[in-house]
Amino acid sequence: MGGEEAGKRILLLMSPATYRAGAFLRAAQSLGLEVVVGLDLPERLTEYWHVPLGLDFGQVGSAVEAIVAYARERPFVAVLSVDDSATEVAAYANAALGLASNSPQASEAARDKLLMRRLLSTGGVPCPVFRNVGLQAEPGWIASQVSYPCVLKPRRLSGSRGVIRANNAEEFQVAFGRVKRLLLGEGVAEAEGTLLVEDFIPGVEVALEGLLTDGQLKVLTLFDKPDPLDGPFFEETIYVTPSRLPEETQQAIAECVVVAAGALGLCTGPVHAELRVNEGGPMLVEIAGRSIGGLCSTILEFGSGLSLEELILRHALGELVEEVEREGQAAGVMMIPIPVGGMYKGVYGVEEALGVPLITGIEITARVYNQVVPLPEGGSYLGFIFARGDDVVEVESALRVAHHCLRFEICRALPMVERRGLREAGAGW
Ligand code: ADP
Repeated sequence: MGGEEAGKRILLLMSPATYRAGAFLRAAQSLGLEVVVGLDLPERLTEYWHVPLGLDFGQVGSAVEAIVAYARERPFVAVLSVDDSATEVAAYANAALGLASNSPQASEAARDKLLMRRLLSTGGVPCPVFRNVGLQAEPGWIASQVSYPCVLKPRRLSGSRGVIRANNAEEFQVAFGRVKRLLLGEGVAEAEGTLLVEDFIPGVEVALEGLLTDGQLKVLTLFDKPDPLDGPFFEETIYVTPSRLPEETQQAIAECVVVAAGALGLCTGPVHAELRVNEGGPMLVEIAGRSIGGLCSTILEFGSGLSLEELILRHALGELVEEVEREGQAAGVMMIPIPVGGMYKGVYGVEEALGVPLITGIEITARVYNQVVPLPEGGSYLGFIFARGDDVVEVESALRVAHHCLRFEICRALPMVERRGLREAGAGW
């Protein structure tokens, strides 16, 4: 592959807080592409910050109009969303500009868990029994109607936010209240809002990273998630590759993803799918028309040193990627979970953790003096630990050892009621 992309202009859609900006911008730079960033900002802030292409991803129609107007003067060869936040805007914009992309309907189905479940079920993809429940429903009654264990989840959030397991009616009612509060806080209208309740799928979990070309799947990587994900919250921690699952199981996983992509109508670009595997075979938890989140792609390298993002950009520009393989070493990443909510004050032990054999890097992404919020309400990590080696078991254990070296200082937030109590007691707050 040469430098034939130089001089081409692409639009990268991103939200200000995305983890994915750096990797995509570096990839575009290394390919010599001209990048325009379409940033998710309300109009007032766009003017205030002098952002060249500010877009409100929540207003798909006007965002697409703004992109099309911009492209009249400075045309794009591709429009890509770096994460989940703008996959629908990207699909509509590509359609309006006559550029290759997933259909807007497929992009929407990959974002809305209810739509996704409906299409997967009719498409014959193994997935759990599910039901759609209005936020105004009476939780006690719903709790008596569902089977246990079950999982409650918002339709359009990501990163396991608001995903909660309930083992019985009592837990269901608590979880329902919690997800509902989260959704109302996100601006979902109570009268129209719904959440999904589905059967809990037992088994080990994997994540498949792939690229679709005309509906054909190129598996880039299959990750094992060696930590049990049994709830009540579903914190991602360790991803390691290559998978230790038998070859035929890996094959079955890939086949399940192909059928799932077809059921949704996803046919081109990156896919990231989460599946559970048990004695019944693979079951699809979720499929998204985007690449892996966070800083996880840092550990992936393809062909002669291509990053995942370089591969995605080349694919978007029409290059063939069928022959490209991940380099042979085992690799792993740990997303460092937030153990407790409060103000992040700092971290100790990074040098020590970096000294652990096979550890290739540590990125602490939490900002000092900022609030950190754990799952199920929060949507971020304290940071990421990366490892690489000849053996996947050693890579996994290196990640755990390094994590043990880190000590995070988080100043727990005082609950409001305690604060009021102190004020009333004359504590001078
Ligand atoms: P998100 O898009 O927020 O990541 P997912 O639907 O992928 O939401 O759920 C997040 C995680 O919750 C999954 O990776 C999985 O570990 C767990 N999970 C979700 N649904 C189920 C289910 N039906 N059974 C078991 N685990 C589930």
